[in-house]
Amino acid sequence: MTPTAAWTELQTRLAEINTISQIASNLSWDQQVMMPTGGGADRGKQLSMLSGMSHARWNEPGLAEALDALSGNEASDLQRAAVRNTKRQHKRSTAMPKELVQAMSEARSAAFPAWAAAKESQDYPGFVPHLEKLVALTREEVAVLQEPGQDPYDVLLEPYDPGSTSASLDPMFERLGTELSSFLQAIQGKPAPGERPKGPFAIAPQQALHESLVPALGYDMERGRLDESEHPFTIGMGYGDTRITTHYYENDLLPGLGGTIHETGHGLYEQGLPKELRGTGAGQAAGMGLHESQSRFWENFIGRSRQFSEWLAPQINAHMGTSLTGPGLYAASNGVKPSLIRIFADEVTYNLHIVIRYQLERQLFSGQIEVSHLDQAWADAYEQKLGVRPAHVGEGVLQDVHWPQAYYGYFPSYTLGNLYASSLVKALEKARPQMWAEVQKGEFAGILSWLRENVHQKAHLMDAPDIVNAACGGQQDHVADFVDHIWARHGALYGVSR
Ligand SMILES: [Zn+2]
Repeated sequence: MTPTAAWTELQTRLAEINTISQIASNLSWDQQVMMPTGGGADRGKQLSMLSGMSHARWNEPGLAEALDALSGNEASDLQRAAVRNTKRQHKRSTAMPKELVQAMSEARSAAFPAWAAAKESQDYPGFVPHLEKLVALTREEVAVLQEPGQDPYDVLLEPYDPGSTSASLDPMFERLGTELSSFLQAIQGKPAPGERPKGPFAIAPQQALHESLVPALGYDMERGRLDESEHPFTIGMGYGDTRITTHYYENDLLPGLGGTIHETGHGLYEQGLPKELRGTGAGQAAGMGLHESQSRFWENFIGRSRQFSEWLAPQINAHMGTSLTGPGLYAASNGVKPSLIRIFADEVTYNLHIVIRYQLERQLFSGQIEVSHLDQAWADAYEQKLGVRPAHVGEGVLQDVHWPQAYYGYFPSYTLGNLYASSLVKALEKARPQMWAEVQKGEFAGILSWLRENVHQKAHLMDAPDIVNAACGGQQDHVADFVDHIWARHGALYGVSR
């Protein structure tokens, strides 16, 4: 096969796989937003059939032949990126023995209800055998995929954050943990800067508020939708169809707003991916960390800023009949309080939740810690880093679904998103000194077009660390950028300085 023919062949095959995945996304969106509960069993079969079809296509010899013929003979940056990305996924989809795939799938299915029950009854020992099994199977998967000399953890990291390694994350997360702990010490005992608006808040006006906010940020409603689901999410199901969901709370306005702005950030990224690259193997997002940088850019860096609060407060008042002021909303949005549950954590302590999980995962997969001791290690780490200790595993090691479903290597992307976003904001402030004045007026087009050009349009032509550094004009110290932001924003609100 000539390289030109191989490229055409590869494109045809990837486009098909892409279409299968879009159909699955469609069914999955429907399952979480529209489907009556009775549809569950058959929907499971439908999704499993599509996943089998996709797996079979990855395993067709023609795909491997095209990849081989192209590899080393790429004619452009696009082809090089597509081959690199596709090889990674091809290896994950084809290298695993069938028995191992089956065993993992069964272990996950068995673990899910057992996790829910153990969380409810606060019974860690009861869940340990499941977790041990999942970790053991994950170790087998790592052994299959691992390159000579590669750290086992890097194999886990790759599907979520291709291009990141534990060698780069270890010192970053260590330093971030120390810096944030000293920030917490500095504000210890200080009163919260503001009070959150008190409910109850009717859902219908909240909905109207959110529906006006999402397009105002630049999200294209002709190529997307906003719906409601139990857990907010974003899903792309074709070039012109990227959907987001949110969740409204009657007792508190802010989590719903934060969730909507977060998902809008994800949606803007998906909508900004270049049309001409779709299905090429390089047209997709460059990983979870970069995706999360886009959601957190809007949710935290823009959405919790003083200027955005000035712009948003009168709109909340108009819809909800409240009497919020810009400074009041700003202060209420930026309280910092160590707590046990990650998903309800503030912008500062959130990252300590992730540092703890990351360091425990590293210890788990390097054999320094046993699954049976993970609950204690977790509680000790929370006490040491956040000064709070879970009373039981339901608010401790069993709170998240990630480990009970064998998603190891996933957590770092949340904090990487915050770190990347802080460097992107710094670069944007330089490129666009008027940005904060624009935010205060509700003008987001200039900011969005900078993100489009420097992040979204790069799709997966480079790995995330390279995209962010290129956007920022060279290698960045993300931890320093993030910590500077925390002191500038939260330090000022709490009246402390370094
Ligand atoms: Zn997200």
